[in-house]
Amino acid sequence: MSLLIRNGRIITAIDDYVADIFIQGETISAIGKNLSVKADKEIDAAGLLVMPGGIDPHVHLDMPFMGTFSSDNYETGTRAALYGGTTMVIDFILQKQGNSLRSALEEWKGRSDGNAVGDYSFHMAVTDFNENTKTEIKELIEKEGITSFKTFMAYKGALMIDDRQMIGLMEEVKKHGGLINVHATNGDMIDYLIGKHRSEGKLSPLYHYLSQPEVTEAEAAERFADMANYTGCPGYIVHLTCEGALNAVRNATRRNQKVFVETCIQYLILDASLYEMDFEGAKWVMSPPLREKKDQATLWAGINQGLVQVVATDHCPFKWEQKLMGKDDFSKIPNGHPAIENRMELLFSEGVSKGKITLNKYVEVASTNAAKIFGMFPKKGTIAVGSDADIVIFNPDEKHTLSASSHHMNVDYSGYEGWELTGKVKTVLLRGQVAIDDNKCLLEKGYGQFVKRNKVEGKI
Ligand SMILES: [Zn+2]
Repeated sequence: MSLLIRNGRIITAIDDYVADIFIQGETISAIGKNLSVKADKEIDAAGLLVMPGGIDPHVHLDMPFMGTFSSDNYETGTRAALYGGTTMVIDFILQKQGNSLRSALEEWKGRSDGNAVGDYSFHMAVTDFNENTKTEIKELIEKEGITSFKTFMAYKGALMIDDRQMIGLMEEVKKHGGLINVHATNGDMIDYLIGKHRSEGKLSPLYHYLSQPEVTEAEAAERFADMANYTGCPGYIVHLTCEGALNAVRNATRRNQKVFVETCIQYLILDASLYEMDFEGAKWVMSPPLREKKDQATLWAGINQGLVQVVATDHCPFKWEQKLMGKDDFSKIPNGHPAIENRMELLFSEGVSKGKITLNKYVEVASTNAAKIFGMFPKKGTIAVGSDADIVIFNPDEKHTLSASSHHMNVDYSGYEGWELTGKVKTVLLRGQVAIDDNKCLLEKGYGQFVKRNKVEGKI
């Protein structure tokens, strides 16, 4: 099967030019002006943008939580991602405390194998680092292609590890050429504030927000950066939301330390005033919570300054019925919001169309940097000869409205109901196959493949 995309405006993290792209099988085999090749299928992309498929390195599909599961599984989640121009996601495996990393990997494979429509990979969340776990790190990196390890400085009593375990894990991961991801908020402070609010009968979603003030994130980001500097391990802070935490990273980078930053689309465009609406605010109960307008400005600036490298989603949808588990107590509301389908279009509309970021920067933070940081570049994350033909054809001028009634995520509300966007995904290719065209998905579940990733040592 061969495919020719004619006359599109090709945008990568560094390029902007009009040319044809010739695809044979799963990869790009030629790029040039007026290519004289014969293809099985041709797509006319004149007047449209042609960009690398989006990569969302922070999603939770089919994740067991509080006796239920996040409502998108590998099929619905990766399909919704494709509708929105995201061709690959990275999910998080959660180790059960007391169990091996291997057993957690097997459990996640049981849910993902044969079910994904789009491509995916895994981060391994280490919730219990001990002498046994230590021996598994090398094998995960070298045999399984799982090169990033997630840690939680919060969720005390469930997922949190202490600083002693953190240092030990960092030393081991560094030794084998991997990377540490972190949920950087101060678990003890948050635990104290949640208890205090509950004991005072302050139980609405607003108190979820007030239990995780900015200082809890700034303190942990700085502590993480210091520990990563001490051990020499590359670090990646997931879902950074605020000025205080970004300033901690700014200081760390002055000593030329590798500490990368991800924010999520919601932190750039939504703010904490949503928690003032009675229980409806539960739609945006996530950790960390939404912040303030001044933090949005800081994050956009951080993207342009190169301090924030990735815009992800932390997609972790729960249906309204599941959110109601916390109707009388904010601490029982499942944390997370749906965005896997909306990220690329929201970031384009709010970022590029409104003049906050350039087209090249858009591709960089929505795709290329994640591919580089997580050891998949240049197979993923760019448009180049030899790269996977993961391509989004995008109309920058088309207007449309987001709604739960038309989205493809398995959740019965939208965090962005009624938002009018400029710029729409038209056609999506995944490894040379047309995945989305004219608002229809043409791929079946099982097409999506697990992507083994490379060591990042010396590459980031
Ligand atoms: Zn997450």
